Amino acid sequence: MSDRKVLVVANWKMHKTPQEGLTFARQLKTKALNLPAVNFILCPSATGLLHIHGEIRESALELGAQNLHFAEQGAFTGEISASMLNACGCKWVIIGHSERRYIFNEPAGDRQRKVPAALNSGLKVILCIGEVKAERDAGATAEVLKAQLANDLGGISRFPTDQLVIAYEPVWAIGSGVVALPAQVEEAHAVVRETIFQLFPSISSKHVSVIYGGSVNIANAAQLIATPGVDGFLIGGASLNIGDFVTIAQNAQTALKAEH
Ligand code: PEP
Repeated sequence: MSDRKVLVVANWKMHKTPQEGLTFARQLKTKALNLPAVNFILCPSATGLLHIHGEIRESALELGAQNLHFAEQGAFTGEISASMLNACGCKWVIIGHSERRYIFNEPAGDRQRKVPAALNSGLKVILCIGEVKAERDAGATAEVLKAQLANDLGGISRFPTDQLVIAYEPVWAIGSGVVALPAQVEEAHAVVRETIFQLFPSISSKHVSVIYGGSVNIANAAQLIATPGVDGFLIGGASLNIGDFVTIAQNAQTALKAEH
């Protein structure tokens, strides 16, 4: 098998109590032993971080948060800083999920501050970008992805390629059961890499991981991972069920092996 690994990220959103998360992590820890080609990242609610950290700290599983505030500390009721996430054992943080953008109307300027705040604190970033349906229908997908990357990465001048993952998540595919076509994913991921190269000419964009999110499930994972330019998945709904989540990872690993 090649050295290529697939990144499989569970975004549990506002699901699972700390105990439920812990049970899932315990089961995954065992099952992951048979999936050496998969790098797992679990992103529970903030309330579950410490419990899960305690469970997976000696394992290959990694922990991520779903959001952060850019300030180090202060009068920001309800918010969580990078150092607090580090103290809970997080290695990763998701920034710019479409639910933050469109449900919570996160200002674009916040992401410019969140990305450096996370990276400077030692957290790795999963930056989510993606077009809404009207933008795709208008043929504006590439333009939207470029603008989001230019804005969201506007607060940094460089980054180590293993510290930043871009998640292409077409908003119309998230939680809808409508998965993007492989050709659409391939095209979007190529736009991401090309834009990263334009924004950061000194960085080898082929070394930046680009993952896909949006209705990934046990039936489509193998085809998606075999799509050129896809390094893994960000999974919402199908990450809540341990059986489905592990099957997706298994299918992805099997498809990787078949490539070689
Ligand atoms: C997500 O929320 O990032 C996501 C991809 O959700 P789902 O897998 O449910 O479409």
